[in-house]
Amino acid sequence: MHTTMIDRDEAIALLSGQIPAEGLMREAASLRDEGHGRTVTYSRKVFVPITTMCRDTCSYCTFVQPPGAGGQYLSPDDVLAIVKAGDEMDCTEALLTLGDKPEVKWHQARSFLAQHGCETTIDYVVQMSELIRSESRLFPHANPGIMTADDIVRLRPTNVSMGLMLENISDRLTEPGMPHHNCPDKVPAVRVETITEAGVHKVPFTSGILVGIGETIGEVVDSLFSLADLQRGHGHIQEFIIQNFRAKADTRMRFSPEPAIPYFVRVVALARVILGAEANVQVPPNLTEDFSIYLDAGINDWGGVSPLTIDWVNPEAPWPALDKLEAVTNAAGFTLMPRLPVYPEFIDSTWIDEDLFPHVVDRVTDAGYAVLPNGAGTP
Ligand code: SF4
Repeated sequence: MHTTMIDRDEAIALLSGQIPAEGLMREAASLRDEGHGRTVTYSRKVFVPITTMCRDTCSYCTFVQPPGAGGQYLSPDDVLAIVKAGDEMDCTEALLTLGDKPEVKWHQARSFLAQHGCETTIDYVVQMSELIRSESRLFPHANPGIMTADDIVRLRPTNVSMGLMLENISDRLTEPGMPHHNCPDKVPAVRVETITEAGVHKVPFTSGILVGIGETIGEVVDSLFSLADLQRGHGHIQEFIIQNFRAKADTRMRFSPEPAIPYFVRVVALARVILGAEANVQVPPNLTEDFSIYLDAGINDWGGVSPLTIDWVNPEAPWPALDKLEAVTNAAGFTLMPRLPVYPEFIDSTWIDEDLFPHVVDRVTDAGYAVLPNGAGTP
């Protein structure tokens, strides 16, 4: 297990610019090369917004709408239409992203769920995951918000991996006037509990931080060390997403400054140094114009990229075309390889449900990369 050689004070000094960042960048890139060579991965996905209703009201979120303003659930037919179109385009991931527990807040949500024989949104996610597995070749990766141990156990037979962003470890962001005020699912301890339960139940898990939502530099550093601690516990965090906040026109944070790119690049490099050579570190390529800069900061993954559906969480930011993603990656001296939602090193019967495992093996190369009809490694 990687032991970080950097302490909190040094990390804060690096992020605040008191120490020049050149050494940090070199170390981050060198750790990435040590752990992953010159291979950068992505997952060919479709985005399936199971519901755009939520009980929370994060002040930067544009994904969620109340029922009267368009908030709704996708019907089983809607879900099938998306995944079948994705299947035809050789996508391998069905990313199930949704608001958290809308049934607690909205009678329209309870009514939709009852019509489909469900009490909770998680029941419906289980049902839709089973539908996707039975009707397509895609592998679900559920991001349904807070999950109990029982929720995780029920999703595991159909989901090769799951995810929940930590976002930030600071309770301060839930105080009045802060972005997570009145958002019960954004209480850090509750999120830590879900991430931990995923480890207990052997689920390859995706987590990460959101940078620029009003946190201090110290809180960014503490969040990265918290993720490292969680990983030390169960070794199940297959991917660490480092995501930059983008201000959206129709949100309460529309005038909030976005993190400056040079600062955010240092956060990414620091994440690599704290999380270690073997960690899979990802930055979404659609939230920065010149996204190749993150390759210099030690990332080894671009996350899910869709040739078909929009990024519902950042609808103003289209994903780069896959040929552009490959060209940019190659130009920086790397090879782009497709992966499933589950990373190659987690394709193992201890990490994947025993009935699902053979289907996963069928769709990957010996090295664990996704097999695409036009050859692995080419979009
Ligand atoms: S919990 Fe997620 S979906 Fe709900 S308001 Fe917050 S960011 Fe949006």
